[in-house]
Amino acid sequence: MGNFDKIVNLCKNRGIIFPGSDIYDGLANTWDYGPIGVELKNNIKRAWWREFVQLSPNSYGIDADIFMNSRVWDASGHTASFSDPKMDCKSCKTRQRADNLIDAHSKGKVNPDIMSNEEMESYIAEHKVACPVCGKCDWTNIRNFNLMFSTSRGVTDEKQNLIYLRPETAQGEFVNFLNVQRSMRAKVPFGIAQIGKAFRNEVTPGNFTFRTIEFEQMEHQWFCHPDSSLEYYKEYKTRAMDFLLKIGFNREHLRYHDHDKLAHYAKAACDIQYLYPIGWEELNGIHHRGDWDLSRHQEFSGKSMMYTDPFTNEKYIPNVVEYSIGADRLTLAVLCEAYDEEKLENGETRVVMHFHPALAPYKLAILPLQKNLSEKAQEVYRKLAEHFMVDYDEAGSIGKRYRRQDEIGTPMCVTIDFDSLEDNTVTVRDRDTMQQIRISVDQLINYVQEKIVF
Ligand code: ATP
Repeated sequence: MGNFDKIVNLCKNRGIIFPGSDIYDGLANTWDYGPIGVELKNNIKRAWWREFVQLSPNSYGIDADIFMNSRVWDASGHTASFSDPKMDCKSCKTRQRADNLIDAHSKGKVNPDIMSNEEMESYIAEHKVACPVCGKCDWTNIRNFNLMFSTSRGVTDEKQNLIYLRPETAQGEFVNFLNVQRSMRAKVPFGIAQIGKAFRNEVTPGNFTFRTIEFEQMEHQWFCHPDSSLEYYKEYKTRAMDFLLKIGFNREHLRYHDHDKLAHYAKAACDIQYLYPIGWEELNGIHHRGDWDLSRHQEFSGKSMMYTDPFTNEKYIPNVVEYSIGADRLTLAVLCEAYDEEKLENGETRVVMHFHPALAPYKLAILPLQKNLSEKAQEVYRKLAEHFMVDYDEAGSIGKRYRRQDEIGTPMCVTIDFDSLEDNTVTVRDRDTMQQIRISVDQLINYVQEKIVF
């Protein structure tokens, strides 16, 4: 947890992530991305979109509305059963998830996913699983708690209708299956991708941005023939892992976790877990959903979701392989993976974020060595800012300015000195090696461009 607390502090102090509604003492489990954090998260979303839309043949992006007809949630099963097993501690009145209590108590050796509510209650009673807040073992029975946030629409009270804030983005892809297929003349197999907000009234939010009540998902639904669906499921497991390696993760900090308990319609499901400072936790999910989603929407909407193969004339409801990753949870993992403390030769410690240069909030910082070099430094800044996010800093010693850039993971620092005025050259310092090279301002754009590709 040591590093976790340090990362949370760094995020606040360096403009990465602030507590939500901070001046009003916050609102629990809400977080605001600051000037540095929004760049990082946008770069992560761009990298994902590039991989799963731009570089993914037959994949189409959409941006669906957060509000959807309530019947969507009846069809998807969320109204009836999108719930967590919650228990209240009678002693300190805090609320806990029964499955999490068992997982923590058994140190991951017992799998609550395959237990019924009654079995979980018996386990908790038999093993005297204590409340993590007050240490007592005095629980209510388990009740299932629906995680959807609801609100109402309409201008007068009488006309109010219940609507939900979507708890996942996936339904936007499913209900647009026909629209995308027809408008883009798409042939199965094809994919629909989306990045957007989702909302869940989580029983136990926490651990910084790991589990929040509002978050962003990046989802890719692959519509395919049932006979090839398991092959695609395996392919998506590999693609999801490859993407994480590509953006800078160490393979040893990632692992597959196949699900033992499957939804009745699912043929297979797995997560990729990341070794967060709080332990191994889910980073993304890959789910083989069969034809459940389209069949249910066909049943509830009355619209045919049948696809006719243009070559064989076969009619079928496509299967879906879903790949879903939280943009915030991934951003948190990127922060944890990048965080490093290095002992320097002079005995000082430098905190450095080793972001992949393509993800780094600023690609470079322009640092004039003295204030009277500002004019030249500003000229270089304006030239580079046409191409990249660039920081400009002329306040404080050069050592302190380097440290600040290291802490926000700027891969290159460009210093402007008196020679720059003479020969139009600058010094570029590498964040990771701290090595410096001298190059001309004219070469800078190409130099940076080469460094920031995946
Ligand atoms: P968990 O078991 O951690 O609650 P889940 O299995 O319910 O997650 P999915 O419904 O499969 O998650 O959602 C897909 C992804 O969305 C997750 O892998 C995660 O990255 C992200 N996600 C889900 N819930 C949250 C949340 N409350 N806060 C932040 N990210 C979330």
